[in-house]
Amino acid sequence: MANVQVSIITIGDELLIGQTVDTNSVWMAQRLNDLGIEVKRRVSVGDIAADIRTALDAEIAVSDVVLITGGLGPTVDDITKPLLCQYFGGNMIVNEEVLQHVKKIFEVRKKPFLERNLKQAEVPDSCTVLFNKLGTAPGMLFERSEKAIIAMPGVPFEMMGIMEDEVIPYLQQNFISDALLHRSILTAGEGESFIAEKIIDIETALPSHVKLAYLPSAGVVRLRLTGRGADKQRLVKELEMYQDQIANRVEEIVVSLHDLPLEHILGRTLLENRKTIGLAESCTGGYIAHHITQVMGSANYFQGSIVCYQNEIKEKLLGVKKETLEEHGAVSEHTAIEMAVGARKKLKADYGLGVTGLLSAGGEDDRVPVGTVWIAVADEQRTVAKQFRFHYDRPRNKDMATQVGMLMAWKFLQKKI
Ligand code: AMP
Ligand code: MG
Repeated sequence: MANVQVSIITIGDELLIGQTVDTNSVWMAQRLNDLGIEVKRRVSVGDIAADIRTALDAEIAVSDVVLITGGLGPTVDDITKPLLCQYFGGNMIVNEEVLQHVKKIFEVRKKPFLERNLKQAEVPDSCTVLFNKLGTAPGMLFERSEKAIIAMPGVPFEMMGIMEDEVIPYLQQNFISDALLHRSILTAGEGESFIAEKIIDIETALPSHVKLAYLPSAGVVRLRLTGRGADKQRLVKELEMYQDQIANRVEEIVVSLHDLPLEHILGRTLLENRKTIGLAESCTGGYIAHHITQVMGSANYFQGSIVCYQNEIKEKLLGVKKETLEEHGAVSEHTAIEMAVGARKKLKADYGLGVTGLLSAGGEDDRVPVGTVWIAVADEQRTVAKQFRFHYDRPRNKDMATQVGMLMAWKFLQKKI
C-alpha cells in the first residue's frame, strides 16, 4: 500500500478541559511521519461513549489505520475497552499472559492486587493483544476488512513503548511496502532561508520520491532528506549522493551528517580526542550541564559545572576578578573569558566554557540590552569569546544560550573558531 491513511483519536476528558496537553498525538504524528506515513486527521474526544463511537465511525470511514489512546485504565471513567468490545463484537476474557504480567508488576511495586486490577488483564476476544512491557493496560489490535484499529493506553511512555515494540513493526509489515529512508545534515550558523537560497538548484532537481525538510530548532537547522523506493540499496546510494551535494554546498555551516542533538555531537568529539570539559554557567543555571549529562557515558569527558549566578560566586569559586566585574559588568567579554578560564582550572578540565547573559528584563546588570549573552571557551593556549543577542522570552533565550554554548565548544574543539 503506497499511501496509507492514518487517523488518531485521543480519548480523555482531561484533554478537552486543557488539563493535559495532548502530547500523544503529536508524538505519534512525528513518529509516523518519520516512517513516511502521513496522518490524515487527529481527533480528541471525552470519555463519553457516544462521542467515542461517532469518532470511530468517522475515522474508520476515511482511514486505513486508526490509532487510539486513552481510557484503558481500571477506573470507572475509563470506558474505551468495554466500548471497543461492544463496537467490534466479542466477549471480555482474561488474557493469561497479561494477567501474569500485571500480577508481577504489583508484586514488584509491593502493592496489593485488587479485584479491580483483574480487569486490566481482560481484553475482548475479538482483538490481538499488543503487549505493554511498561505498564498494566495492554494495547489492542482489531482488524476489520483490511483496516486496523489500534487502542493504546494514554500514559505517554506506555503508548510509546507499544508503538515502538508492536505498532510500528505491524504497520511496516502490513501497510508499507516501499523502503523509507532518511539522511540528515545538521547545520548551525545560518537560517533556513539562507540555506534554501544556496541549495535552490539541488532542491528543485530532487526527484519526486525524495523530499527535503528544513527543521529549525534553537541555534541549528536540520536538513532531512526522506526517500521512498522499492530498491533499498539504490535508495541509500541516491540519498547519500544528495546528502553529499548539499553538505558540500553549505560546507562552512555543516556540523554533522548524523541526526543527533548537539550534546551528543560535542560529547563524541570530546571522547574521540580524549579531552574533558568543565563549565561555568551563570544565566543557563546548569542547563548546559543537564544537556551534557543526558548522554550515556558523559562521565568520560564531563568534569562538572559551577553554577555561578551571583558575582560573589563568580569571584570566589572561579577566580573572576572583582575589577573585571566592576569595570565591565557581569555580562561582558572579560567576565565570560575569566569564567571559562576559571572553570577549566577549578574543574581540572582540558576545556572551559563560560556563559553569562541577561535573559530577560529585571536583572541586576542593566549595562547590556536584554537578550545579550557572552560565551567564552578556553583551553591551555587560547580563549575565544563571542557575543550573542537573543530576542525571545526567558526560557527560549536560555535554550538558545545552551545550544549556542555547546556549539561554540564544539567549534573550538574543531578549531573552526
Ligand atoms: P488513561 O489511559 O486514559 O487512563 O490515561 C492515563 C494518563 O495518561 C492520563 O491521566 C493523562 O495524564 C495521560 N494521557 C492520556 N491521554 C494523553 C494524551 N493524549 N497526551 C498526553 N497524555 C495523555
Ligand atoms: Mg483517561
